[in-house]
Amino acid sequence: MLETRPKILVVDDVPSNIHVLSRVLADDYVIYFATDGAKALELVQARQPDLVLLDIMMPGMDGYEVCRRIKDNPATCDIPVIFISARGEVEDETRGLEVGAIDFITKPISAPIVRARVRNHLLLKQQADILRQLSFMDGLTGIANRRRFDETLEREWRRCGRSKLPLSVIMLDVDHFKRFNDHYGHHAGDECLRTIARILAEEVKRPGDFVARYGGEEFICLLPETDGEGAARVAERLRTAVLLQAVPHAASPTAPQVTISLGYACTVPPPDRAAQSLVSLADAMLYEAKNHGRNQARGTDESAMADGVLASPE
Ligand code: GH3
Ligand code: MG
Ligand code: MG
Repeated sequence: MLETRPKILVVDDVPSNIHVLSRVLADDYVIYFATDGAKALELVQARQPDLVLLDIMMPGMDGYEVCRRIKDNPATCDIPVIFISARGEVEDETRGLEVGAIDFITKPISAPIVRARVRNHLLLKQQADILRQLSFMDGLTGIANRRRFDETLEREWRRCGRSKLPLSVIMLDVDHFKRFNDHYGHHAGDECLRTIARILAEEVKRPGDFVARYGGEEFICLLPETDGEGAARVAERLRTAVLLQAVPHAASPTAPQVTISLGYACTVPPPDRAAQSLVSLADAMLYEAKNHGRNQARGTDESAMADGVLASPE
């Protein structure tokens, strides 16, 4: 059975304290435990718990340091930490909150209070997770939005640059979409955009590949470790897939069905250049495709030193 209960990591150097907390929480949560700071940090990284209950006084690394490291690591910084400590002085609590803890519970613990606070903080964490996911998602199509794309682009630009690997971007835009809306109405227009998003998600799916809605009727694909030839192939596959979907477009001067134009660009990211320059290149190529009659892909491949314009087969 798939485990869906929230995961809680309990950290305390005294095993009997861990047992007490486990008894209080085990019915509703999956409990992991660690008896020292180093093991706790390992488990936080490996298990990605939804909440950490952390003792302060431990031999070796103390709870403050464990908390600071959890908060310093981008991979774990969103995991809430609650200190559970016998040290209930104002300074202890203040210091705990200062290193990033969300709450402070003093020992000896009261079971109902621990349960209530844990439940409340998990609820807040779930809500924060949902909001974060939504902030990276395009509301109409459900695929990633431009913000998420920009972040991913920066990361892949640096990674491919370090490893001297090619990185490709494909930008695509629905042909005569204003006429489509005018002819069929906005609802049909929205539905058409959802169809295109679905096709992209289906066709661009190598590990590391990434698709997003870039703007109104513009979409973008990021293809790490893919050279210009590969990008040309993917672009052509997308063009064909949209054509074969055969969404009627009676108002289009290009074809009786919906078509897209695509521009792609490939480079081995040079360290001194901005990642967005690759998007600008792809955008310029998209402009070429539009100018040369739409329903086609145009691209440039810096990685092959060919630097010219490669037109894909019609
Ligand atoms: P071209 O072939 O040169 O790309 O022409 P076009 O009409 O597609 O381009 P233009 O930029 O002139 O118009 C884009 C249209 O896309 C305008 C707008 O009505 C439509 N559009 C943008 N976002 C949405 C959306 O979320 N839903 C719908 N239904 N239409 C949208
Ligand atoms: Mg358009
Ligand atoms: Mg447009």
